[in-house]
This record gives sequence, structure tokens and C-alpha cells, in this order.
Amino acid sequence: MSSVPTRALRGALIVTQDEKRTVLRGDVLIADGKIAEVGKSLPQKADVEVDAHRMLVAPGFINLHTHVANTLLRGVADDLDFGGFLEKMFSYDAKRTEADIEVGALLGGAEMLLGGTTTYLDMYYGMDAVGRASERLGIRSFLGWAVLDAQFTTQKGIPVDNAREFMGRWKNHELVTPLPAPQGVYVVSEETWLKTKELADQKRSLVHYHLSETLKEVEDHVGKHGLRPVEWLEKIGFLGPGQIAAHSVWLKNNEIALMAQRKVAAAHCPSSNMKLASGGGGLCPVTELRAQGAVVGIGTDSSTSSNTLSMLRLTHLTGLAHKHARHDPKSLPAQVLLDMATREGARALGQEGFLGTIVPGAAADLVLYDMAHPSLAPVDTASAVANLVYSANEGAVNSVFVGGRPVVDRGRLAGLGDEELEKIALSPPLR
Ligand SMILES: [Zn+2]
Repeated sequence: MSSVPTRALRGALIVTQDEKRTVLRGDVLIADGKIAEVGKSLPQKADVEVDAHRMLVAPGFINLHTHVANTLLRGVADDLDFGGFLEKMFSYDAKRTEADIEVGALLGGAEMLLGGTTTYLDMYYGMDAVGRASERLGIRSFLGWAVLDAQFTTQKGIPVDNAREFMGRWKNHELVTPLPAPQGVYVVSEETWLKTKELADQKRSLVHYHLSETLKEVEDHVGKHGLRPVEWLEKIGFLGPGQIAAHSVWLKNNEIALMAQRKVAAAHCPSSNMKLASGGGGLCPVTELRAQGAVVGIGTDSSTSSNTLSMLRLTHLTGLAHKHARHDPKSLPAQVLLDMATREGARALGQEGFLGTIVPGAAADLVLYDMAHPSLAPVDTASAVANLVYSANEGAVNSVFVGGRPVVDRGRLAGLGDEELEKIALSPPLR
């Protein structure tokens, strides 16, 4: 890592997300890209001293499921059923270039950073372009190369081999972690699932996949194999730790138990599920999964199905959707929601204690929110978590650090100038 000056944020309202969920008025010291210390009136001097009395400091959000390159296609496939939506997506897919993917990832990454997200887990192909965009913006990313059977893909070559090569190219990168990402049971055969698992075991990597998003997907799978997707993935010997299953909407009790037993984490994507009405009357059974000990984080899904990459909105929506559906205002309280969007996302990625928390030794991935912003004020130690989850909007995000580096400084991106951002936003390719 290139040397980054030590930094002290003084007098902030700090939502630490530590083991005890401490919220305090105090200082954060940052050295070597990590949190060196957190506490009241710390005596050490830093290279850069920041008066943060007006700031609420919290860990950056972890967006546990995206297709960031799709940000270019926001607003082209709304109010369609899932089949119509996919048809529209495939028509764009055919003409998309790697340069388009990079531009889409820059735009989506910019939206995430400006909204307080410091880490995201993505699934796509042409991921080198996404890696380059992430690197440039300074956002932390876990990039899953989409794996599916050769007959279903527009990728050149065999997707699982493409994933392997991609992982080789980005091995040991500070901010970009590569992994394979099977698209879902509808386009991935038993052989391909197992080859992916072999690859992930060999490289000790995570695996990300779509799971039981729509009822049709589950019914079709039962029709073909006589088993529901989770039952089938267990039977073929695929399920195991280090896996993050996006959506996980249509799960029966035995599947919930299997996911918990096999330590498979879920990425709950309520905005996408509710907009595509793929959840029908249901949602990912977050409470039941958590009760069995499974890890559940929150993902936005792509800008085509969810339209927003805002984790503030998604965290808010998760709380409201579950309280409403369960007739229980105590369901998923604010602290649990913030945990899901930070600490639990980190656990899902195998980064417990390093991401999603402000404790000594953790990465300095932090967001400074302006406490005078009308969507956050008035705020104090008692209301900090609730106001973040239930009322704050992106306008309150002042500055963002990833690995101790300022990637957003008072609303401006460090890695992408205003002019270039405007050029991408106002004259995007593919549109
Ligand atoms: Zn998805």
C-alpha cells in the first residue's frame, strides 16, 4: 500500500458497530489504512487533524448483491414481469462492449460511494472492466465472474474457465477480490456447479449465486429434478461455507435449516423482489434464517431491477417490508437492520472484524454524515442508529474513506472528476 497520512477525526458522534454496538462522542485514529484507536479525547497527534464535531461517523455500507455495470440501463426495463424484464436485458447484453461495462461500473460505483457504500459484491462478466472502475474510484469490491453453461452465454469461451483466469489476474489485490458466480439453477448444470465449487475450493474463494428468486424458477426446478433448488444443491454436494446466495426468497423450512447448517449466507434484495413482484406475498425469510443462525445481509441488486444502489434506502425498505408483512413493528429493529447492512454483510464475505465495524485493526472504511442535514437531524447518541436507518438520505453523506483514503471529500469523488462524471451521466453509451 502506498503510504497514507495518519488521520484523526475529532469529536465525532461515532456509531462503532463494535461487539457492544457502542455509540459515543469521541475520536477515531486512522493509520496504515486501518482504525488504530477509537475513544474519548485520544491524546495522540496525527498528520491530518479533522474537526468532526458536526459529523456522525459510521462504517461504510456493504452492498451484498449488485450488477453494477447495469447502471447504464437504468430506466429501460420497468414495470415488466420477470420474463419480459430478462428479454429486454438480453437485447442490450448482445451489443454491450467491455468499455460499456467499465463506464457502467464507474457510474454505479460513483452512486454507491456518494451514498455511503464502501464495499459491494457483484456478479457479471467482463469483470476486469469492473475491477478497473472500482480501483479507480477506490471502492472495495468482491467481483463474481458469472458462471453458466456454455450454451446459455454470450461469453466467449467456457465461463468457468473465464472465471478462473479472471481470478488469476486479480489475485491478492488490495481492494478487488475475485470469485466465481454461478448465475442460477436455470442456466447452470450439476457439472458446472461442481466445477465452480472445485475452483473456489482450490483458490479458497467465496462463491456468489442467485437462488430461489422467483416461484417459477423453483417450480421449474422441481419439475425437472424432483427437488427444490436448495435441496438439490445439497444433494449434489455443492452447499458449503463462503457462499452468498442472492434473493433466497422461496425457501421452505428444511431449506432454511440447510442453509444455516451449511453456513450459506443470504443477500436479501427486497427492492428488486418487490418491484419485480417476484416475492409474491413473501420476502426472503430473514427472521427465520437468522433464528437458525444463518447470516443475512442486504443487497440492492442492479439498477435495472431495483433502480437504486442506495443502501440507505434498502436498509429502510428492509425494515418496513418485514414489519409490515409480519404485523410486527418489533420485527428487525433499527440496530439489526444496520447490522445487516454492515457487520452481517462483512460476515457473509468472511471479513468479520475487518469490515463493517469501527474497531482497532478494522479497515478504515468510514462514512462521515453531516449531522446538520435535515434528513438526519436532530440526532444524538440515542437516536443515531434509528436516524441512519429510518430517515437519512444520501444528501447527508459528506465524506467517505476506504482503506483510510478519502474517496469522497465533501460530496466530491476523488477518483472521478466532475466533468467526466457529467460526461458519462449525460451522454452514456448504449442509450
Ligand atoms: Zn442479481
